[in-house]
Amino acid sequence: MKTIAVLTSGGDAPGMNACIRAVVRTACEKGMNIYGINRGYNGLMEDDMFEMDLRTVSDIIDRGGTVLHSARSLNFKTEEGMQAAIETCQRRGIEGIVVIGGDGSFRGARDLSLRGIPCIGVPGTIDNDIACTDYTIGFDTCLNTIMQTVDRVRDTSESHDRCTVVEVMGRSAGYLALEGGIAVGATYIIVPEKPYDLADVIARMKKTLKTGKRHFVIVVAEGIGGVANLAKRIEEETGVECRSTILGHIQRGGSPTVRDRVMASIMGNKAVKLLMDGIGNRVIAVKDDKIVDYDIFEALQMKKSLNDEYYQIAHEISI
Ligand code: ADP
Repeated sequence: MKTIAVLTSGGDAPGMNACIRAVVRTACEKGMNIYGINRGYNGLMEDDMFEMDLRTVSDIIDRGGTVLHSARSLNFKTEEGMQAAIETCQRRGIEGIVVIGGDGSFRGARDLSLRGIPCIGVPGTIDNDIACTDYTIGFDTCLNTIMQTVDRVRDTSESHDRCTVVEVMGRSAGYLALEGGIAVGATYIIVPEKPYDLADVIARMKKTLKTGKRHFVIVVAEGIGGVANLAKRIEEETGVECRSTILGHIQRGGSPTVRDRVMASIMGNKAVKLLMDGIGNRVIAVKDDKIVDYDIFEALQMKKSLNDEYYQIAHEISI
């Protein structure tokens, strides 16, 4: 392949820029032309792109967000949208695309691959909810943001002998809540994957009150929601003053951590090498600390579950 392109799609995640940088630098080093497509699949349909070179990706490795911008493009799911994207590729001579995003973006990459534009998916989402991979770009930075932010909440919770119920992101998955909850020493972690009983939360708090504990942090995944009501119920049942807080979009930003920069760089490099070998319709993944790649169809069929052992341990040590 002589000419390829890169785009970021779906929700943004810290580390996407490090990945774009690795893609562009690898392509240039291999003598390929590389386009940066703006606003995900929207830019592909509308031919909104620019030629990138070694210097267009200088000084972005440490920046959160994505310099290519991201979007959710409903029109791309239609046949007209898909045709417009293919026409752009033909006009520009684009022979392959690196798509950095989540499951939805991979579905788009699969559809493009089926129509003769080989695509490689790179997992980029703070939620770590992509089945085929143990790790997604942005997860570690987001966990660190959760840890640092909840540490601050803990300070004030401690001063006032309060309980704080904190909602963290993760869409319908509890990976951020589980690892974030362990990192902040949460008394209870509530995730969509595990049934929970308010009576159990109350009983745990009462038990720890007897041992001298005076303040609490309870971490709740976005997929559960209802933190204000939960806080009210806990206050009524335990007599401990209780507040709720939703961390929100603060969790998506910030300079990527070492782990995110390293993983993004390695995965971006690998994606371009696959395209260079004429291979498309693959997703880059991390499995047992190794970088591997899967067929997109297979990757989208895979299932992933929460780490039961971590969940169990979190409860054992939170008392
Ligand atoms: P993520 O990639 O983070 O999962 P989305 O689910 O919003 O985010 O998907 C990002 C974009 O990928 C969508 O806006 C759409 O353009 C494209 N996409 C999502 N699902 C499909 C699909 N089934 N077929 C084709 N394109 C899709």
